[in-house]
Amino acid sequence: MSGPYGPDGQLRPAAPLVMASYTVRQGDTLYSIAAHFGLQFGSLWWANKLSDPRTLHVGQVLRIPPVDGVVYAIKAGDTVESIAAAFHVAAADIIEFNQLTTDALPAGEEIMVPDASGPPLPKPAVKSASVSSPSNGGSSAVGSSSYHPRMVWPVPGGWISQYYHASHPALDIAAPMGTRVLAAAAGTVIYAGWGNNGGGYQVWISHGHDLYTTYNHMELVSVHVGQTVAAGQQVGRVGMTGWATGPHCHFEVWIGKVWNGGYRVNPLNYLR
Ligand SMILES: [Zn+2]
Repeated sequence: MSGPYGPDGQLRPAAPLVMASYTVRQGDTLYSIAAHFGLQFGSLWWANKLSDPRTLHVGQVLRIPPVDGVVYAIKAGDTVESIAAAFHVAAADIIEFNQLTTDALPAGEEIMVPDASGPPLPKPAVKSASVSSPSNGGSSAVGSSSYHPRMVWPVPGGWISQYYHASHPALDIAAPMGTRVLAAAAGTVIYAGWGNNGGGYQVWISHGHDLYTTYNHMELVSVHVGQTVAAGQQVGRVGMTGWATGPHCHFEVWIGKVWNGGYRVNPLNYLR
């Protein structure tokens, strides 16, 4: 072969690995960013060689790999087989994804090792019940998980399309476009409209006791900031705005504001 390939017979990947980029915004977490690109937390973690989730900051530019796995910089002497063995994946998957035609690889180039795992991931920090909130006076210990209202299923007729897990700290409830989205509990709307966080048209409700719910990817929003809503009151309609690949409501439950030390908890703990 000739052309783009080296004189020594080493073949390059057919095309350089293409990665998207994302600029971190207020309210983001690595989990939420990964979830909205349809990736696992680890894939972002490894692609960006991160070492501490607390160092994520607004304005930081993250590399977004095209699929889950590890972005690997080829070292001298590597072969597809040696890389496959190191990551416990099939060589054929590496060849196919990167459109390689031999196992002789140029050092320094990056390839994607789909579905591979990198170094161990950080465990989410265990939170104490001391998230302060101005709306609660900020003096007492709040964010208490002892406040545990039974919530209304927010999408009538909807079905779970993705459960809460480490890299998706939310519940995805799929339903036809236009299905009503309901407030899961009584509260006050603190955000309503478009958000540049991947959630598209979204509504956030404060339920007091430092408990919040958010409803994302909606087609339209039917409440406004400051409005008081009852449990079961419509807040919008199911859509697929923002980073969504199909109509669903990405439903989050927060204990504390997530940009202020709060964290996302499993919505099913409140819906059942
Ligand atoms: Zn989701």
